[in-house]
Amino acid sequence: MSELSPETVAVHAGRPSEGPLSPPVVLASNYRTYGYTREEGSPTWEAFEAAVGALEGGESVAFGSGMAAIAAVLEPLPVGARVVGPAVGYTVTRGLLAERAAAGRLELASIDLTDTDAVLSACEGAALLWVETPTNPLVGIAELDRLCEGAHAAGAAVVVDATFATPLLQRPLELGADVVVHSATKFIGGHSDLLLGVASAKTPERAAALRHARGTLGATPGALEAFLALRGLRTLAVRLERGQASAAVLAERLASHPAVSAVYYPGLPSDPGHERAARLMNGFGAMLAFETADATAADAVCERVRVLTHATSLGGVETLIERRARYPEEVAPEALLRISVGLEDVEDLWRDLDRALAG
Ligand SMILES: *Cc1c(COP(=O)(O)O)cnc(C)c1O
Repeated sequence: MSELSPETVAVHAGRPSEGPLSPPVVLASNYRTYGYTREEGSPTWEAFEAAVGALEGGESVAFGSGMAAIAAVLEPLPVGARVVGPAVGYTVTRGLLAERAAAGRLELASIDLTDTDAVLSACEGAALLWVETPTNPLVGIAELDRLCEGAHAAGAAVVVDATFATPLLQRPLELGADVVVHSATKFIGGHSDLLLGVASAKTPERAAALRHARGTLGATPGALEAFLALRGLRTLAVRLERGQASAAVLAERLASHPAVSAVYYPGLPSDPGHERAARLMNGFGAMLAFETADATAADAVCERVRVLTHATSLGGVETLIERRARYPEEVAPEALLRISVGLEDVEDLWRDLDRALAG
């Protein structure tokens, strides 16, 4: 289906060629001919995997969560392998890498992924470069094409966590990455009602290694979750279109709000990631972050919002606002708020935010 645009592929890929239009939820641990689900997969997982694989231009493997996919990607690394990872990025990924380094399983260099030269000089002797772009929570943009080229020249494989971008806004395998992972819990599922992960590989060998790791780690998805994630994927294009249009409006208005000291959104022409995002992505996404004068003011915004919901996670139809207080100061400013923009009317969202900022 490669001649079709990704929006069309998201609607049609992974459908059975006969019988029901939507692949059914198959609740089975074993099959007469296929074998055992943990090892061989199931038709419900495969439908989701086929759809994501068609969008990524690779072979996809579904996992029980984003972290299950991430752990499975790291699993085959030999003891002592050098990994270049994110200084700013998803907390649990950074934690997993740091724990493995502390236990002597990996040698870890944590680098600001938006600093291409620093990342590439750290790649000397590395087995793996772990990229997250856009980054959580600062929505920083990595220079993916140059990073892939440089890392490969240094002999390192490249894995990209592209959760914030979704398969529609960024195609890391095309830009040179070896594996791309998503927390499908977020935009792909899109309704805050499931946990799921997916990893897609450029080569069948890497996909086989991911499938093997899924089976041995037992990191398997649930059938209902895979079904719901595929249903979510069908509407991803329209949800993203709405979310990122509203994110652009909110970012622009926040940037000129007297109670806001900084805005992080690659769609703003003044944002340091703007040029890169315009070059490497098909849109600026529905995630933004901003800073207030101090932590007290940031906490107050979370308490006062009524249309936005103060809750963790992202990528659902409802707009979420979250304090990123758990980040150490070198990673994120103290008074940082992150917004995942959903599908509400943008003027309702703005009135709510403006009122919450005014106190
Ligand atoms: C949520 C998230 C994950 C982890 O995914 P889960 O589905 O919660 O396990 C990984 N990376 C990023 C960028 C995320 O936002």
